[in-house]
Amino acid sequence: MASKSGDGRTVCALEFTVQMTCQSCVDAVHKTLQGAAGVQSVEVQLENQMVLVQTTLPSQEVQALLESTGRQAVLKGMGSSQLKNLGAAVAILEGQGNIQGVVRFLQLTPERCLIEGTIDGLEPGLHGFHVHQYGDLTKDCYSCGDHYNPDGTSHGGPQDTDRHRGDLGNIQADDGGRATFRIEDEKLKVWDVIGRSLVVDEGEDDLGQGGHTLSKITGNSGKRLACGIIARSAGLFQNPKQICSCDGLTIWEERGRPIAGQGRKDSAQPPAHL
Ligand code: ZN
Repeated sequence: MASKSGDGRTVCALEFTVQMTCQSCVDAVHKTLQGAAGVQSVEVQLENQMVLVQTTLPSQEVQALLESTGRQAVLKGMGSSQLKNLGAAVAILEGQGNIQGVVRFLQLTPERCLIEGTIDGLEPGLHGFHVHQYGDLTKDCYSCGDHYNPDGTSHGGPQDTDRHRGDLGNIQADDGGRATFRIEDEKLKVWDVIGRSLVVDEGEDDLGQGGHTLSKITGNSGKRLACGIIARSAGLFQNPKQICSCDGLTIWEERGRPIAGQGRKDSAQPPAHL
């Protein structure tokens, strides 16, 4: 079993590189993170400039805590607290204006998928957030197809039994236009979403309850503002060099650079080894 925190969230491991030169830096990092709500344990390796955090916080919040010590921190990867690689993926979102973001998918347990990230450049407020069927951005976000819906059900909210599998509800942007979120979901699996796309919409998703003709189809959340292909990621506990791109899906090596590839343009299943 994956460890759970008191609030029912599943703990995951985040690995950061942090500029540290001496033991006082290590002490400062320990002092800042230990005792913070949502942080279960902290391991600091001065020689590797590495900080490993077991947490239920969004990675952006842990990064902000680390940087509050006056040091730069870079997230290198995330993994299940079970120290097993059950699958990981990442989507780099780009869109109109200055909208951009990074969203990570991590299979925490065979049942439960973590979707977490930060998107900047949004209007403050709620924005519909969905996995779409295709990883095809040839016509910007409009070639991504509909919400990922292999079960042929109606649109709904993430807590509903009757929903599209791609329905992740809303994310909320603050007054500065930043949305930081951490979602745990049992309908989506990492191996189902690789090669598809992630889209953030202009307006609020009514979760199927709005009474509009689009409520049961899209949640009536308006235009598609930004999108990105969901690419397989090395995660934390797998040697990226062992990953090949021979299946034609986009792969993102988080410790290095993106490796070009194509998203799904049809309903092909992911390779069996995922
Ligand atoms: Zn939907």
